[in-house]
Amino acid sequence: MKIHDISMTIRPEMAVYKNRDAKRPKFVQSAWFDTQGVYETDITFNLHTGTHVDFPLHTLPGGATSDVAKPGDFIGTALVVDCTDVIQAITKADLEHAAIQEDDWVLLKTRNSAVETFDFEFVYLAKDAAEYLVSKRIRGVGIDALGIERNQPNHPTHDALLGNGIYILEGLRLQTIEPKRYSFLGVPLKLAGVEAAPLRAVLLEE
Ligand SMILES: [Zn+2]
Repeated sequence: MKIHDISMTIRPEMAVYKNRDAKRPKFVQSAWFDTQGVYETDITFNLHTGTHVDFPLHTLPGGATSDVAKPGDFIGTALVVDCTDVIQAITKADLEHAAIQEDDWVLLKTRNSAVETFDFEFVYLAKDAAEYLVSKRIRGVGIDALGIERNQPNHPTHDALLGNGIYILEGLRLQTIEPKRYSFLGVPLKLAGVEAAPLRAVLLEE
């Protein structure tokens, strides 16, 4: 079995949303072997750093938090869909040809995966495509950008998905991944009552 790691590496110099310094993860060493007998590190980072899942509370006041996440929701099948020809926004028409099944994780491979730096013009998911995915009753949708939408007033893509109980994965890395069906594993950290959580996502290929 082949295991494909589709996660970002968390480090201080990694790409962060809109290159904002406040969003850069901070690593501070807090114990040294010479004096304390062990090494320890404290890290501080925004929950939307690197590969992570958004929960409804992220854009919907009063929405469900990380408390709703059951590990079994994050173990299943993933369909990687080739959207590398899309320049700006993935629309319903770009997804209708894909063999999406109920309870799939739909992972959108775009030109975003070709670059490691933050692209202000990253490819995103349009609202009509989000509504189409809702109608397909999928488990979750993932994209290889640090956001699933940009410059859309009132974040309609997030709301369409999160308002219908569909998880959103952001910060995937799919450059070397062939568009097809895989087994998916990406269980988020067990954080209480927050709007997002980091995870390590992998695809398994028989
Ligand atoms: Zn997010």
